[in-house]
Amino acid sequence: MKNQSLMTKLLALCRARGFLFPSSEIYGGLNSCWDYGPLGVQLKNNLKRAWWTDMTKRRNITGLDSSIIMHPKTWEASGHLEGFTDPLSDCKDCKNRFRLEDSCCPHCGSSNITKSRNFNLMFKTFMGPVEEDSSLVYLRPETAQGIFVNFLNVQKSMRLKIPFGIAQIGKAFRNEITPSHSIFRTREFGQMEMQFFTPPEESDKWFEYWREEREKQLLSLGLTFRWKDHSSKDLAHYSKKAGDIQFEFPWDWDELEGIHHRGDYDLSRHQKFSGKKLQYFCPEKKISYTPYVIETSIGTGRLFLALLCSAYKQEEERVVLKLSPHIAPVQIAILALSKKTDLIDLSQKIRVDLEKKYFVDYDDSGSIGKRYRRQDEIGTPFCVTIDFESLEDKKVTVRDRDTMKQERISIDSLPSFFLKSF
Ligand code: ATP
Repeated sequence: MKNQSLMTKLLALCRARGFLFPSSEIYGGLNSCWDYGPLGVQLKNNLKRAWWTDMTKRRNITGLDSSIIMHPKTWEASGHLEGFTDPLSDCKDCKNRFRLEDSCCPHCGSSNITKSRNFNLMFKTFMGPVEEDSSLVYLRPETAQGIFVNFLNVQKSMRLKIPFGIAQIGKAFRNEITPSHSIFRTREFGQMEMQFFTPPEESDKWFEYWREEREKQLLSLGLTFRWKDHSSKDLAHYSKKAGDIQFEFPWDWDELEGIHHRGDYDLSRHQKFSGKKLQYFCPEKKISYTPYVIETSIGTGRLFLALLCSAYKQEEERVVLKLSPHIAPVQIAILALSKKTDLIDLSQKIRVDLEKKYFVDYDDSGSIGKRYRRQDEIGTPFCVTIDFESLEDKKVTVRDRDTMKQERISIDSLPSFFLKSF
């Protein structure tokens, strides 16, 4: 890994400050499973809200929240039952199972290994009380299929005209052989996906459009990245054309988001397997056709990790998370300099006012220097300190996280100050 120490320090901070905890830690944890702590869930919700707003503010994008468990035929139609596999071998000596990349076992070096067999990455479970083949169901490996099977329900109920898109945020599950880099590749993860339905002849134009739109949103969160086209041998079975938005993680450049031109693969396959027509009737041309699909797909946890990696700065006398003010889990910290009643009353009044609009933290204990450091480490863009003079001159000190500059501002003008700053 290029920058192992950044990853180690970042994970230590995430744990100490309540962003991320290993799942079921008191039982020794569970490989690849993570819990988002109080600040982590706030940051994750802010990311989801930013993505959701950016999508659904458009008149032709609508939302959906489909079920995680779907009819098993869905996965036959989507190609996941047949094609969503990794070739695995078993070591007859140490009994480990692994992806065969070399001629011997990567765990013990033995060459006493089985021939590789395809292993499906979908999680299986049983629906109802009887564990038999007829009750076998899968946890979805992507949120996209819930959108495809609802294509006509959404189009008709919302009277949508093509081109239009359906956005969805939800959990997906993949029994990854090599989960890695904490929340980068896990077996249970969040996805934010949007499927955009277009006339076939316009699909190339919309592919470029959505690539640019996604890049704009990631830039607005303060990220830098690069684009990588998929070569024809890397294309997924459903894809006509695709590329990744990659971020430079501490180990290397790696995929953050995928943009895929899925053609009419999904709708055609669901039509075939369900026997139900999934076509759009164009009222102007008076013809029915199967639209093409452009997909944007980003992992919520991957975006979370990329933002933390890019925000983490080790400066001479402090560690600071330079998160964009829009997504910071705490936007303003109210710090009362002492626990004197008048001071606390005034501080609480300011807190109640600002809380109507911003995520606010309140802290009145410990040295002010330590309190500033804690807020820097969790990425709070502004601290408002209330001191004894505040009781007289009705002014407070506002400290900027990035410049550490302090400014004396009248309490009355705090709302307009923050309106300009966020
Ligand atoms: P990778 O090869 O990096 O595991 P992928 O090419 O299989 O990803 P897609 O199927 O295109 O990924 O999924 C779309 C997005 O979902 C990815 O860009 C990533 O952000 C996220 N994602 C996919 N698999 C995982 C996972 N196991 N853990 C966390 N996020 C994931």
